Amino acid sequence: MPWIESAFFGLLAPSLLTMVLVVFVTTQLTLMCVTVYLHRHSAHRSLELHPTLKHMMRFWLWLTTGMNTKAWTAIHRKHHAFAETEEDPHSPIVHGIHKVLWQGAEIYRTSSTDDVLEKFGAGTPDDWLERRVYTPHSVVGIVSLLVLEVLLFGIPGIAVWAVQMAWIPFFAAGIINGLGHWFGYRNFEVKDKSNNLVPLAVFVCGEELHNNHHTYPNSAKLSVKPWEFDLGWAWIRLFQVFGLAQPLSTGPVVDRVPGKEGIDRDTVLAAMNDRFRVMADFGRRVMLPAVREESRKADRFTRKQLRRAYKLLTRVEPPGIADEKHAARKAQLLRNVPTLSKLSSYSDELRRLLASGKGSLEDVRERLIDWVKRAESSGVETLQEFAKELRQLALPKTAPPI
Ligand SMILES: [Zn+2]
Ligand SMILES: [Zn+2]
Repeated sequence: MPWIESAFFGLLAPSLLTMVLVVFVTTQLTLMCVTVYLHRHSAHRSLELHPTLKHMMRFWLWLTTGMNTKAWTAIHRKHHAFAETEEDPHSPIVHGIHKVLWQGAEIYRTSSTDDVLEKFGAGTPDDWLERRVYTPHSVVGIVSLLVLEVLLFGIPGIAVWAVQMAWIPFFAAGIINGLGHWFGYRNFEVKDKSNNLVPLAVFVCGEELHNNHHTYPNSAKLSVKPWEFDLGWAWIRLFQVFGLAQPLSTGPVVDRVPGKEGIDRDTVLAAMNDRFRVMADFGRRVMLPAVREESRKADRFTRKQLRRAYKLLTRVEPPGIADEKHAARKAQLLRNVPTLSKLSSYSDELRRLLASGKGSLEDVRERLIDWVKRAESSGVETLQEFAKELRQLALPKTAPPI
């Protein structure tokens, strides 16, 4: 009977393929709203959004997730402020990978206490819609979606809705907060355990590039290498074409002035601003060739030790959660290979110097001049070349358009 059929399959009676497409498109839209609106705009202020687009995103998130902008923003800012400590709401290193991976939504619920919202939730929407609808009636959105999908797709609509409900807590919260601090590759040695999961970041809309993000949290673009792709940034560019988005930052912009020799205030500021890239360059251009050279001439025992040398010498273990095995292996390696020990002290000294927030700029400049002079007379060709190029760093005269 037709009425039974339409009650079971809904007004549209969609095929299985149509329902899979609906799930795919709607979850992608939700992920886009999470990364562009909640994460890059609300939590980090890395881009501005047109008010109409912002309202559409807020509405969509209310309808498909019931998530609250202020709570999400506050918890996320707290995560950056206290990454990998007891205060970090979702560090897998501190709270365990299983908890963060499987209980993403629960963590957000229990962490959004009044004092956290007060302290970290500044600048989030506080209009009539937020006060009267989105915050007090957060469940109404997702229940409306269920009713709509049952009407359109019938009983199978319940399955479509269930997948949509599980998607964000698992993929956006669990995978990024859990695995993004658990395994993957690192472009930069920041003081937490953040990793990039894959270079082609399309599955969770660019959020896979979590190490890049922790390095440059105020950048609207999460890819940094030519071979990395950030789907969230592609969305932002598209919105920008229509005048709906304006990126405010894409990370530090530093110039290289060929032939420049003097280390002035500009050189110091440029090197400090871009210190993660400077140190990554040191690893790739000075440390890596040295490790390869040592491996070439080493005996079997030392060659075995050198297999992990690059990682041991370039990885910065966050204080408080440093891996003891890592430290012991590094100490043994440095005892056995004096050349690497020498380069490692240059690296440690430069890292500390560029990270020094205290002391005057003049003091840092003098220490940098001294470091560069010693590096240039070290007799290590790659180090000499690196030091020479460090002199060429400068702040751009005018900020390039984004
Ligand atoms: Zn993180
Ligand atoms: Zn963030």
